[in-house]
Amino acid sequence: MKNSLSNQDITLIGGGVMSLTLAVLMKEVNPNTKVTLIERLHECGMESSQALNNAGTGHAGNCELNYTPIKNGSVYLDRAIEVNEMFETSLQFWAYLDKKYPQFKPKKFLRKTPHISFVKGEANIAYLKKRYEAISKEPLFEEMEFTTDRKKIKAWAPLLISKKDEDSSAAATKIAHGTDVNFGELTKQLLALLIKQPNVTIILNSDVKTIKLKKNHGWEIYYSNLLTKNKTVMYASNVFIGAGGKAISLLQQMKVKEASGYAGFPVSGKWLVCSNPLVVKKHNAKVYGQALPKSPPMSIPHLDLRVIEGKNTLMFGPFAGFTFKFLKYGSFFDLPKTIKINNIGTMIRVFSKNISLLLYLIKQSLQSSKNRMAELKYFYPDALDEDWSLMDAGKRVQIMKGCPKEGAKLEFGTEIIFTKNKTLAALIGASPGASVSAHSMLNVMTTMFNLTNDKTIKEMVPGYGISLNKNPKILSQIRKKIYSQLGLN
Ligand SMILES: Cc1cc2nc3c(=O)[nH]c(=O)nc-3n(C[C@H](O)[C@H](O)[C@H](O)COP(=O)(O)OP(=O)(O)OC[C@H]3O[C@@H](n4cnc5c(N)ncnc54)[C@H](O)[C@@H]3O)c2cc1C
Repeated sequence: MKNSLSNQDITLIGGGVMSLTLAVLMKEVNPNTKVTLIERLHECGMESSQALNNAGTGHAGNCELNYTPIKNGSVYLDRAIEVNEMFETSLQFWAYLDKKYPQFKPKKFLRKTPHISFVKGEANIAYLKKRYEAISKEPLFEEMEFTTDRKKIKAWAPLLISKKDEDSSAAATKIAHGTDVNFGELTKQLLALLIKQPNVTIILNSDVKTIKLKKNHGWEIYYSNLLTKNKTVMYASNVFIGAGGKAISLLQQMKVKEASGYAGFPVSGKWLVCSNPLVVKKHNAKVYGQALPKSPPMSIPHLDLRVIEGKNTLMFGPFAGFTFKFLKYGSFFDLPKTIKINNIGTMIRVFSKNISLLLYLIKQSLQSSKNRMAELKYFYPDALDEDWSLMDAGKRVQIMKGCPKEGAKLEFGTEIIFTKNKTLAALIGASPGASVSAHSMLNVMTTMFNLTNDKTIKEMVPGYGISLNKNPKILSQIRKKIYSQLGLN
């Protein structure tokens, strides 16, 4: 029997931006959907989705150089185009909610912030120029600018240029309509929309322990209240596991066949945060550089202005590190508990193939503040130690899985796993993450409920199912309307 969204119920495990996006999407398509959300913390949006636990970049492939590697001598653009199109889906969805609900205020979580790529040294400059020449021909990126002129770079981002390294060559590209997103605020606003609707239950302080397939139909969800220690079981026809880093653990406990052999590779993060308002005032951009040799793509350093609840903050990082925890408020047993017979081979193969990455992460965890400041000084040569302090970011759990060709591999993207009957889905992995939440959750909803050509989806996301890069006319119509509505022009 096919699953449909009429008279349906869904239980969401975890109250981050993913679960809340899915819940709101489902309520738009069918307001009668019964939604239950179970969150282990006392509030939603306190893990990776919380404002300073992530970098808040509206990932659109504008400045992230890891999305455009050199392959066979050419700059590979497909990933940057894909991520940009997925981010446009989020923008369209937020613009739809903005129009429909007066209390939904994108300007409180979305801020136009130029996206700049910045490199030094001849080889890097040659790469950036080549990337610019290729990518600026694509309609999605046609507004990109390139320069090697130090004065122009200084005008774009004054902190990058110093008298100290007057002789060194540098280059930069800029997309003016880049964004900074406070995903924590977005999560809160989605929750506020949701709880106004009928048939919505939010259960806080409750940890889902396991989920079992019922004999005839649906799922049994076992959870315990972390304050009262009461144990409860509830039933649901459909389940979405939006438990962030813990999604892999739950899939394992359930023995989901489709996730057999999978394991999680947790990576911690830290930021350097500037407390000098005079320095913060000088920077209004997100400036991405190139990953250091042997470092994972998610540790590409960047210097970002963040505006959170009206307060400007300057952040540099992330400094990745090795950890055993799958969540910021997780346990040191998270990783050891997921070692199973069906994934130990994959884990050993991945760890042995990635020794240099492991060593890099361990080294980064033990890094001195002098070394961190040295990394910062590549971007901001005049940085003073006393202006910067260290802060913990969220955890990212990368996917380790078996693969026929290489035996096992480590993936830095995200993946949605469905059970065979499509009534349970889980999001695992880390990047590009929250930026593409609307795209990912549309995928979950349409697959789970077998929705094709749904009228409401087209209303919410006018470009749904269309490649905007291949249809520049539609792209320009959508951007013209939505960018001015969201203040991104
Ligand atoms: C350092 C860092 C930088 C990042 N930078 C960016 C960026 O610039 N741009 C971007 O788009 N993305 C970025 N991301 C990724 C982004 O933060 C995530 O993709 C996004 O927040 C994931 O949302 P989520 O809802 O899946 O998970 P989360 O926000 O982590 O929410 C999961 C929730 O599930 C709850 N939970 C877990 N287990 C259970 C259980 N058993 N029972 C009940 N509840 C449970 C948790 O308490 C949590 O509230 C970054 C992440 C990190 C860590």
